[in-house]
Amino acid sequence: MKDLNPKSLFIPENSDSRQADKVYIVIKGDELLIDNVNQNLALLNADQYKWSGMKIKREYFIGYLDNYSLYALELEMNSPFMEETSLRPFRSLLGIMPDNYFIICSRSVQLVEWYNKSKFCGSCGLKTSLHGVEKAMYCKECNNLIYPRISPCVITLVTNKEKLLLAHNKNFPSQIYSTLAGFIEVGETVEEAIQREILEEVNIEVTNCTYFGSQSWPFPNQLMLGFHAEYVTGEIKPDGEEIDVAKWFHYKSLPQVPPGRISISGKLIENYVNKLTKKDLPGFT
Ligand SMILES: [Zn+2]
Repeated sequence: MKDLNPKSLFIPENSDSRQADKVYIVIKGDELLIDNVNQNLALLNADQYKWSGMKIKREYFIGYLDNYSLYALELEMNSPFMEETSLRPFRSLLGIMPDNYFIICSRSVQLVEWYNKSKFCGSCGLKTSLHGVEKAMYCKECNNLIYPRISPCVITLVTNKEKLLLAHNKNFPSQIYSTLAGFIEVGETVEEAIQREILEEVNIEVTNCTYFGSQSWPFPNQLMLGFHAEYVTGEIKPDGEEIDVAKWFHYKSLPQVPPGRISISGKLIENYVNKLTKKDLPGFT
């Protein structure tokens, strides 16, 4: 098994023109093959793949990892596992695998899913095939191109001076609170989506939406666009459908929130709290 190097550079690419030595990760649905010894993502070299005994449905070129060509292998349903390996849900490896491997796994899982869901043309119903140049499935009958889907979402930390608006989603497993998020509707601007989502979910009006940063969130296909926004007016009223509890929290007494290392929601919160904390320091002007 190859070591996961936190300093490795990954470059996404659509076709393998370098013909370099290959390395592989292995996927089955939303699960990844892990090395049982270190309980982390398994990165295989060509020999290990060759003698692994695994049955592979298809190989997908993902890009370049340092001087290697990186491929994702899609495991057959009934395939045996390589020795000392097992499958683990991608999501459960967040914060465990090095950060630079997140994009690799995110891209791999999404491309495999896209391929499997785009085998037929949505326009004429005939079989599609991989386009020679574009990262797209192509229908020869009607020239339809089906690109991998990315669904943009807004995720917003609403603040009112020293207080942060955090919400508990009905689907969260524990009493974890987070920022508000939602999909951008067709035809909507990002700013309109922020204002509509927050009004719908907690009945609050906001202003001064400021872009913070983004994160690919492949559960599934989401691109999270992170924003800060300021409270204008309204009493908190959770929608009861997605959000069951929403409250203002003082930055010194926050509930359990997502860790900043693995989620943009956590980063938004950390960033705001850091700004307020600096103001508290003696001598700050
Ligand atoms: Zn077609």
